[in-house]
Amino acid sequence: MLTRLFRLHGLFVASHPLEVIVGTIAVTICLMSMNAIAGGDQLCDWKYHCPKAQEKILSSDIIILTVTRCTAIIYIYVQFKNLRQLGSKYMLGIAGLFTVFSSLVFSIVVIHFLGKELTGLNEALPFFLLLIDLSKACTLAKFALSSNSQEEVRENIAQGMAILGPTFTLDAVVECLVIGVGTMSGVRQLELVCCFGCISVLANYFVFMTFFPACVSLVLELSRESREGRPVWQLSHFARVLKEEEDNKPNPVTQRVKIIMSLVLALVHAHTRLLAETPSNNSSGSAVDLHSPNMDAHTPMTSLDMEQVITLSLALLLAVKYVFFEQAETESSLSIKTPQTYLSNRRAGDECCRRIPRMVNANTSPAPLSATDTRGKDHEQQAVACPAAQRRTAEEDSEERETQISKTSVQPRPLNECLSVLRDPQQGPRCLSDAEVIALVENKSILGYRLEAELETPERGVAIRREMLSCKLPRPSALENLPYTGYDYSKVMGTNCENVIGYVPVPVGVAGPLLLDGKEFYVPMATTEGCLVASTNRGCRAITLSGGASARVLADGMTRGPVVQLPSACKAAEVKSWLESSDGFSALKHAFNRTSRFARLDRLQVCLAGRNLYIRFQSQTGDAMGMNMLSKGTEEALRRLHEQFPELRVLAVSGNYCTDKKPAAVNWIQGRGKSTVCEATIPAKVVREVLKTSTAALVELNISKNLVGSAMAGSIGGFNAQAANIVAAIYIACGQDPGQTVGSSNCITLMEADGPDGEDLCISCTMPSIELGTIGGGTNLPPQQACLQMLGVQGASADCPGENSRTLAQVVCAAVMAGELSLMAALAAGHLVKSHMTLNRSKVNLTEMSGSKMKDPS
Ligand code: NAP
Repeated sequence: MLTRLFRLHGLFVASHPLEVIVGTIAVTICLMSMNAIAGGDQLCDWKYHCPKAQEKILSSDIIILTVTRCTAIIYIYVQFKNLRQLGSKYMLGIAGLFTVFSSLVFSIVVIHFLGKELTGLNEALPFFLLLIDLSKACTLAKFALSSNSQEEVRENIAQGMAILGPTFTLDAVVECLVIGVGTMSGVRQLELVCCFGCISVLANYFVFMTFFPACVSLVLELSRESREGRPVWQLSHFARVLKEEEDNKPNPVTQRVKIIMSLVLALVHAHTRLLAETPSNNSSGSAVDLHSPNMDAHTPMTSLDMEQVITLSLALLLAVKYVFFEQAETESSLSIKTPQTYLSNRRAGDECCRRIPRMVNANTSPAPLSATDTRGKDHEQQAVACPAAQRRTAEEDSEERETQISKTSVQPRPLNECLSVLRDPQQGPRCLSDAEVIALVENKSILGYRLEAELETPERGVAIRREMLSCKLPRPSALENLPYTGYDYSKVMGTNCENVIGYVPVPVGVAGPLLLDGKEFYVPMATTEGCLVASTNRGCRAITLSGGASARVLADGMTRGPVVQLPSACKAAEVKSWLESSDGFSALKHAFNRTSRFARLDRLQVCLAGRNLYIRFQSQTGDAMGMNMLSKGTEEALRRLHEQFPELRVLAVSGNYCTDKKPAAVNWIQGRGKSTVCEATIPAKVVREVLKTSTAALVELNISKNLVGSAMAGSIGGFNAQAANIVAAIYIACGQDPGQTVGSSNCITLMEADGPDGEDLCISCTMPSIELGTIGGGTNLPPQQACLQMLGVQGASADCPGENSRTLAQVVCAAVMAGELSLMAALAAGHLVKSHMTLNRSKVNLTEMSGSKMKDPS
């Protein structure tokens, strides 16, 4: 309920920043102009005048004041240092400063409104500073800064308010009541200071709840456009941050104690105030009137000067330390990094900074700490758990992103020390800087290819590999535009790619609907060739308008063709005979089938070259493309063959007789994977209106180009216009092995005139070797799975193993046919070059070209 209330309040403030800011300023101005209205000399219920300008302070008090001020300065310094733990050195620091400033202004106005001299603030200021908790303002800012859009800013501020508001309110009440006790002390100076303290707490609370979130929201709204919606706070997993904030919710026991304490203190206050109204209880007489006009008016000026000098010197000293020396310390501990890698490291640092304390908490104290407590303890516990490097990551966090760190400033710890940190389960790689990890890789203590596995997150491993690579490249900035963040490398590791340095985003287009055997398909195509998707889409339209296409899978069998050697050609012939016998086939089939639930040996095709024997194992592979399955089964079968013929020597499990990823007549003739055929009849009207050509022109061109032209070129399986284009685009989108576009693109396209007057077009595509699957390999990656899901074929078929992959093969064949129709039509009509100039050529290049032509005097 309370949380909901604060959330609504936060949402309102963040949604109406201007109104809140203007309102607060208006209230401030009103208070200023109403200075005398309150009129009395009493400040609230307190009984003394605030110090006047002309009043002098006793020299003993000067010592107290000096100590207080120095404490306040040190406290603020520590607060700023702690801010670094939160993330940014500047951004949050400025946010915090802004809160202090606003609270201060508001306090001054309130004091002014109450008719008191501002000189009173002189004494109150240190207390004011001691009461300010910058971390809360910064945490709220952090919530806002982690948003991607203005809506998110509002939502996140509301969420921040919901989490921080109740604690902050309770804290303000408790602080006010506790400090308020000081106003009943009877010591005039203390009472005055406590009076200011209470005002400060209230002012700080008011500003935190209204002015501050409104300003953050407004500033982000104004700056968002220039940043194109990028979050200022580049945390990749905001959910994690929210969770952590949730984890940091205050301890309910502490909250309860605070509430009880507040009630008791409220009673004490009520009691004392009531009594104070009776003259007998007026303690003014007994109080030491430190600020009365008859105070020692002759306090030597030197004491005051001294106090100011001490305070100022301390402030200056700490400021210089914070700005210069800590900066240098940070830089010296930072690793070599590019701006991109910095972000990922910072995230790693974030995790590091937070994980350790929570681990410690989990072991020692089950109760969650309050946001403030946690932060404080974070700091201490980090120092214990990860003394030097932990500080480094925290300081890395606080650096501006734009900073290009000087490589010469890197000072890794000695290798032995780094190694012991790496092997220490309490510390591990997260406590090493990038430079130290690089040193360990160069020393081979961490294997370069195992970076993702060895480091605390795969992404950091990728980032460090990029760093190491960048300096070896002709252009060290070469990788800048190769993205690597926000990718789930855990799905890739050990399965899809090694030595990862990022990923290449490829645009994915959609062609369709494609009506195939009564079902509509929307075909995902990943390509950078302009025109391709548009062209395939036109073909799909022609097919769909014609009543659709039909496709059949003629054969389904992946192949693997090892090469084995016998002592002689005659012995090889003997082995060949045994393999072709039913005994031989059954023996190998038994061994092969043992290796998989889905692979089933269907055929052995054996050929001989001297004493070398080539055995083409062919097997169904369910919904998997099946190369790994075939390799595994083949190896087992060869072991059995070796038992039968011990003189046999296996030269390689693949003897290119498979044939995988190379142009080969064997695939074209015998088939490989899914042998598929697809056909459609396109009425003359559709040929005319959609394809903008005639059946006769298409038929003639198909003979001249796809049949005779390819024959003249000595093509094997290349009797088509652009099968590989469509195959490659679908393969990349759907996570197929791109190398297999070689064999999978084998296709013969046939076109004939049909219909009563011979004006309809009968088209077919026969593709004997479509090698694909819907499970295994790249199909395990989420984006690729999304594309397979578009076609309704992702994963293993529940009803009939192999059904999904066969459907995908039919879709590929039908999409190829659509591509054939469209390209052939464009060629027949003479549109090809024109459409490529429009859709396939970069406008930038064209502009540049036209510009240079204009400049060309010839
Ligand atoms: P795979 O992921 O290695 O094997 C498929 C796995 O899925 C098998 O473990 C299989 O079980 C299981 N499975 C579950 N349900 C299934 C179903 N309905 N149908 C089929 N299998 C099912 O995939 P693969 O297709 O054999 O190999 C593809 C990978 O091989 C790709 O990454 C490709 O790039 C790569 N490749 C390898 C070679 C090579 O020479 N080895 C060559 C080219 C490409 P079982 O364990 O019971 O079989």
